[in-house]
Amino acid sequence: MPKVNTKKVTWEEVENWCKKLSEIILESKWMPDIIIAISRGGYVPARLICDLLVVGELVSIQITHWPSAAQMAKEAGVKHPLQCDLSIKKALIVDDIADTGDSIIIAKDHIWTYCRPKELKVATLQWISKVSKVKPDYYAEEVKEWIWYQYPWTRLEDIVGFIRKIIEEEKEIRSWDLDIISKKIIEYYGVEFDKWYYEKALNYLTEKGFLKREEGKYIR
Ligand code: ADP
Repeated sequence: MPKVNTKKVTWEEVENWCKKLSEIILESKWMPDIIIAISRGGYVPARLICDLLVVGELVSIQITHWPSAAQMAKEAGVKHPLQCDLSIKKALIVDDIADTGDSIIIAKDHIWTYCRPKELKVATLQWISKVSKVKPDYYAEEVKEWIWYQYPWTRLEDIVGFIRKIIEEEKEIRSWDLDIISKKIIEYYGVEFDKWYYEKALNYLTEKGFLKREEGKYIR
């Protein structure tokens, strides 16, 4: 059993979930005039859903998470706000996943306050029903047990995070190469990636000073 329940998502799955979402939205007889992507996770699904529903207007709002002083948990807030008048429009917020639901709550609140849409609904690819504080109006998949969805648009970023965590935990291993990294990623996350990504991630961590390069190995 891997330590972190992880699903490696393919582009084909993304396309299929977006097709499914567009069908559910069409069947509901509700059609948005404009789509609002929650940046960054909602960008790719939002663009695809624009295409599949033939919606010509796409904007975004960026929500970020930073550590709160009070708790170890991260607090979400609006980094790049959306300021436009949506009073004659039906708007659809699109994000990749509703996990805690915090980004969606903050985005909805901000959009209602500053853009005053005629109607506002939410669509996500995944809805983690056990933990999310909000249920999206539309979702392609209900997820009953928490999983880390390794989406193709965060491939390198996630792999950098995975490698950093593994190296920090495996203190007795000082010298790393692509083979050990690959084995440890399977052990921790139960997934495998193209070695191209491992090399890019290790080089990135070296540039950042987290690793050193010595005789073809990466040293912590
Ligand atoms: P929300 O649940 O409102 O979308 P969160 O604040 O929980 O937002 O998460 C913010 C973003 O972090 C998500 O939009 C997604 O890009 C990423 N994320 C959160 N949880 C997961 C997960 N289980 N798998 C993959 N990505 C996730």
